[in-house]
Amino acid sequence: MYKRIVVKLGTSVLTGGGRNLDHPRMVELVRQCAELYHQNHDIILCTSGAIAVGRARLNFPELPPTIASKQLLAAVGQSRLMLTWERFFEIYGIHVGQILLTRADVENRQRFLNARDAFSALLDHRIVPVVNENDALATEEIKVGDNDNLSALVATLVNADLLILLTDQSGLFTADPRTNPDAQLIAEVRHIDETLRAQAGGSVSGLGVGGMTTKVQAANIARRAGTDVVITSGREPNVINRVVAGEALGTRFPALETRLESRKSWILAGPKPAGRLLIDAGAARALCEKGRSLLPAGIVHVEGEFLRGDTVMIMNLERHELARGLTAYASSDMRQIAGRQSELIAERLGYTYGPAAVHRNDMILLND
Ligand code: GLU
Repeated sequence: MYKRIVVKLGTSVLTGGGRNLDHPRMVELVRQCAELYHQNHDIILCTSGAIAVGRARLNFPELPPTIASKQLLAAVGQSRLMLTWERFFEIYGIHVGQILLTRADVENRQRFLNARDAFSALLDHRIVPVVNENDALATEEIKVGDNDNLSALVATLVNADLLILLTDQSGLFTADPRTNPDAQLIAEVRHIDETLRAQAGGSVSGLGVGGMTTKVQAANIARRAGTDVVITSGREPNVINRVVAGEALGTRFPALETRLESRKSWILAGPKPAGRLLIDAGAARALCEKGRSLLPAGIVHVEGEFLRGDTVMIMNLERHELARGLTAYASSDMRQIAGRQSELIAERLGYTYGPAAVHRNDMILLND
């Protein structure tokens, strides 16, 4: 079952190919999301359209083709776009929360954890995150640049089970279906090779940034992180629910490995551990036998200097490494909270990143 689903809506889907948002279509997509939401799925929406909406809102001004013009259009359009989503989700009694990201927010480990915590907070409270790139502030160097790749990063951040990329075409074809009548829909992709990349190469859709190339890139990122990916048409009736139900619509990229395996390789392949947490026997049992998070109370010694998000080794008092994970607290903080109850973290530090020193989702046990 797909519990956690990222739905990416391209500009061409939201505008129906025109210059303005297609409100009836947006409501219909929200209706489908709401149905899944009320069946207890977690929905994360990745929306394009800020620049297109800004342009329409300002009545299609003549602007120089500069980054500053795009920033201006995005700043005007994003708030309007968000307001529109909010109004439509409200019909179904669902709250939304805006998250604007850039590449810099996911590349740095500390910021990665911060971004992930923001998503968790929203999802824990059953609020639908509505995500876009922070186009008003993102410079070329820190930009993801297209929402296909952005949605794949989001899928990785939230550990999504499924990423649906909705576009104006029914999926990935062996050639461009608009110019080649022999083009065949590719129903499933297990290997992304040069032929496939070339097949994806030709097509670009209307106002949006991405074409099939960026969709294939995105699919490749997400499937490696353990997320199934489907590229299909936003025009297909009831498309989101049907894809979630497993119907063969569009092009499906099955996940390459389980999310657990992917997280393990990610932690193990990451930077060298920057520090060591030595833990008592009770904490060792909680980790190894019960699969729990490591709480500060079980930490006896903190060794090394590290930042929040760095990789640390978790050892028993005999210095045998039991687990490895991403620390929620920097070493200076960890020294202050080690051996103490989690309820006292906020009092001690003046803030808290939650009760766990290393959350079990960020940890791999080394003896299993
Ligand atoms: N972030 C851009 C926008 O909202 C869209 C990027 C894309 O279409 O991939 O206008």
